[in-house]
Amino acid sequence: MTKIEWTEATWNPTIGCTKLSDGCKNCYAEIMANRLKHMQNLDYKDGFKFKELENRLEQPLQNNKSTRYFVNSMSDLFHEDISYDFLDKVFDVIAKTPHHQYQILTKRDKKMFEYLKDKKLPDNVWLGVTVEDKESKYRIDTLKKINVKIRFLSCEPLLNDLEDLNLNDIHWVIAGGESGNRARVSKKKWFINIKNQCKKQNVAFFFKQWGTWGDDGIKRNKKINGNFLDGKTYLEYPQIN
Ligand code: SF4
Repeated sequence: MTKIEWTEATWNPTIGCTKLSDGCKNCYAEIMANRLKHMQNLDYKDGFKFKELENRLEQPLQNNKSTRYFVNSMSDLFHEDISYDFLDKVFDVIAKTPHHQYQILTKRDKKMFEYLKDKKLPDNVWLGVTVEDKESKYRIDTLKKINVKIRFLSCEPLLNDLEDLNLNDIHWVIAGGESGNRARVSKKKWFINIKNQCKKQNVAFFFKQWGTWGDDGIKRNKKINGNFLDGKTYLEYPQIN
């Protein structure tokens, strides 16, 4: 089980990461890793240091119930320190479990491309890049070069207006604001811009949450701020068949 609204479960064959771009500033995985370290969780004895965890590779193989997994809520699968050998093992598990769907989200578009460019990916892979601001839109072009059934964008935490988006060959866009005490403000017009472009270009749109700052620009509990955008919820998913 997970609290992440757009998935059903998380699978973390790697843990830990290194901050890379502005979206990483208040990284939730880092906060959680340090919390788990202080709770004496052995996997996190080195805090947020990147690690491959062989003993977690088997987890999806032991689950017979069809599940949509977010791969690495606590890391980035294409981190600089991951070996191709370990990536082979992760994708081998994915290929052996066609009853599951795997949502892989990265900010490391170059490494993802280098590893996947010549590979035939199974149909149960959803591949996504984070586009937290207009400066990171280049990741979309890299994603489009990979041959995969579902391509998606995560625009969270949204830090500025993404302006024009070419969503050709993109199947799903998730957007949301930042949570936590240090959260930065996302403006309503930035989300509306993404929502309108998804509608125009026939792309599924999922508005996850406002987070700490509401649509009126006031800071309050994220549960109260909710996930309404202009009076509606947008919880669409891409077609997978
Ligand atoms: S890439 Fe993701 S997991 Fe890694 S530091 Fe940035 S926000 Fe955290």
